[in-house]
Amino acid sequence: MKSKLGKKSKCRFDRANLKKIPAEARAVVAALRAAGKKAYFVGGGVRDLLAGLKAVDFDVATDARPEEVRGLFRRTAPTGIKHGTVTVLGSRGNYEVTTFRRDGKYGDARHPDDVTYARTVEEDLSRRDFTFNALAYDPVDDKLIDLFGGVDDFKRGVVRAVGAAVERFSEDGLRPLRAVRLAARFEFEIEAETLNAIPKVLERVRMVAAERVRDEFMKMQAAAPKPSYGVDLMRETGLLDLYIPELLEGYGVTQNEFHAYDVYTHSLYSCDAAPAEKPLVRLAALLHDVGKPRTRVVRDGRVTFYNHQAVSRRMARHILDRLRFSKKERDHVLHLIYYHMFGYTPSWTDAAVRRLIRKVGRENIADLFDLRIADWFGNGTNYGFPGYLRALERRINEAIAREEAFTEKDLALDGRDVMAALEIPPGPKVGEALSYLLERVLEDQSLNDRERLLGLLREKFGPGAGGE
Ligand code: ATP
Ligand code: MG
Repeated sequence: MKSKLGKKSKCRFDRANLKKIPAEARAVVAALRAAGKKAYFVGGGVRDLLAGLKAVDFDVATDARPEEVRGLFRRTAPTGIKHGTVTVLGSRGNYEVTTFRRDGKYGDARHPDDVTYARTVEEDLSRRDFTFNALAYDPVDDKLIDLFGGVDDFKRGVVRAVGAAVERFSEDGLRPLRAVRLAARFEFEIEAETLNAIPKVLERVRMVAAERVRDEFMKMQAAAPKPSYGVDLMRETGLLDLYIPELLEGYGVTQNEFHAYDVYTHSLYSCDAAPAEKPLVRLAALLHDVGKPRTRVVRDGRVTFYNHQAVSRRMARHILDRLRFSKKERDHVLHLIYYHMFGYTPSWTDAAVRRLIRKVGRENIADLFDLRIADWFGNGTNYGFPGYLRALERRINEAIAREEAFTEKDLALDGRDVMAALEIPPGPKVGEALSYLLERVLEDQSLNDRERLLGLLREKFGPGAGGE
């Protein structure tokens, strides 16, 4: 089924932007040329510059060999010698200078087995993935080399493989994911032959290391105005079924009156509504309801998803492990998913607000709110900022600003004090005592005073107290 999510928008394209290449970057090319070598700006940098984007990598391709490049510049680093790359260190930036390449055979569906140097920029451009990634710019003669119609494709908003798509994707199984990522980033369409090639090469894509897939996927979360467009392209082409089939379970699964969309669409729109500068929150938004289909129950004509946050967390753990996220990133995302359902009413006491902070962790509050707001906008039935969340946010910020105690660490005494006061050795008792004190302090902050806490300790655990 054809994607309805996202839509094509034409990217700005302006050849005049090529004039804006900074002097230091030009000087790198000029120095190579002065030494009698060929040299061009190539790759994503040229593309991004034409699109008017600000932060641009200036990668250079040359027929000079790495050792020649090292000899030409004062400060260099051998960052990728085995791929023919030397980084020239400038005062305003670093410039990757790579010897023209022609790739060898592709064994593991990802890495060219061996790098063979090429003599011409044409050969180097032919090994590149998409037409608008295969542009070379010569700043000395102000000449743009465009062998495959990349400028036209870029102007029309089309991602097109260089050469025969099935063949190019079979050489490197990461390319279909790059196609989707770039389509989502620029809100381009994937040209038909290129798009139709993806379902034919899924076996090849499956061979790509999970870390590479994860990196492409997260680059898409960080760079696409609407990741939903890319995720839905993944669904259409079979890529989603390879890596996150759980999301497909929500396709067409209807919800209750609070929702305009099925679970799948709601997940994608929530992802869009989360901040791009927090890709992990976007990921949490994408996965926050992944357990809903498995918990869906209709009772008296009402649709419920009881405890879906726990099922979502469990399923998300499998997904994030499959994609080899670090434990730290995984646990953060899982934490956000599990707590996304917190409730709030204005009748909450200050103690209840503090308990929420304690449970969620001060350091996670901002992300959790971003997730919750994304969830709210992803419903498709809500307009305007949720007032109740703003009210809760204000109360939380006030409590934090008052430097209230939310954890054992914030108490006016520590474990050593507890051991001394109760004359007990280190052990679980100490933790129990601290958590008892924290409970009391969460309820009443005025108790957070060393003497009062010691008093509470003796009262509860001291000789004759009876309570353990
Ligand atoms: P960005 O830097 O915005 O993530 P990019 O297209 O610049 O995107 P890079 O990984 O920096 O991606 O690659 C630089 C260039 O190298 C690309 O523009 C493309 O010409 C080429 N390239 C990168 N990966 C591949 C690949 N898997 N197959 C063929 N060419 C590639
Ligand atoms: Mg790049």
